[in-house]
Amino acid sequence: MRVGVLALQGDVSEHRAALADLGVDSSPVRSVAELDGVDAMVLPGGESTAIAHLLVTSGLLGPLESRLRQGMPAFGTCAGLVLLASSITDGRPDQPALGLLDVTVLRNGYGRQVASFESSSELAGGVRVPTVFIRAPRITEAGDGVEVLATIDVGDGAHPVLVRQGAVLGASFHPELTPDRTVHALFVDLASASRSAVHK
Ligand code: GLN
Repeated sequence: MRVGVLALQGDVSEHRAALADLGVDSSPVRSVAELDGVDAMVLPGGESTAIAHLLVTSGLLGPLESRLRQGMPAFGTCAGLVLLASSITDGRPDQPALGLLDVTVLRNGYGRQVASFESSSELAGGVRVPTVFIRAPRITEAGDGVEVLATIDVGDGAHPVLVRQGAVLGASFHPELTPDRTVHALFVDLASASRSAVHK
């Protein structure tokens, strides 16, 4: 399996390093030809409005959306989660929501850059993962088909920060910015299972 990392803007090398630590081949995706060569996609953190704009100008938006709709596994972190969401509150009016995850996200919903913070969240089975939030999107609604894998409570109730719908995983935080590989390993497992189901 080769995992593509959308390389238009954002923390591409950090995701590739995380995948390499798990022994997974990755390549940057900046063009349709590069997209054709990968089996799963990571949409990195960065700035979703900038990534969305570059998706349009590079001609990648349509082909990426159609691969994702055909069931290609995907993992979006922070800005990547915003791109995968079905509804974006406080996005730019021309900002596409790919709709692969049935969630509503509020951009910068945990505060601006100065309010960036580190915490940790517990996954099923009691594993704790470190969570880094940088102008992070807040998941304000999640549809019935969305499994909430981790939450955080910043004083106003628990909100989902790691969600899954089929082979699509989304994180409000940045697992690529910590040395812990739990969340990337979860995605690699999901993507491998989904590929073997398709190729049976
Ligand atoms: N607030 C940014 C956005 O809307 C995401 C920030 C991030 O990825 N660290 O794209």
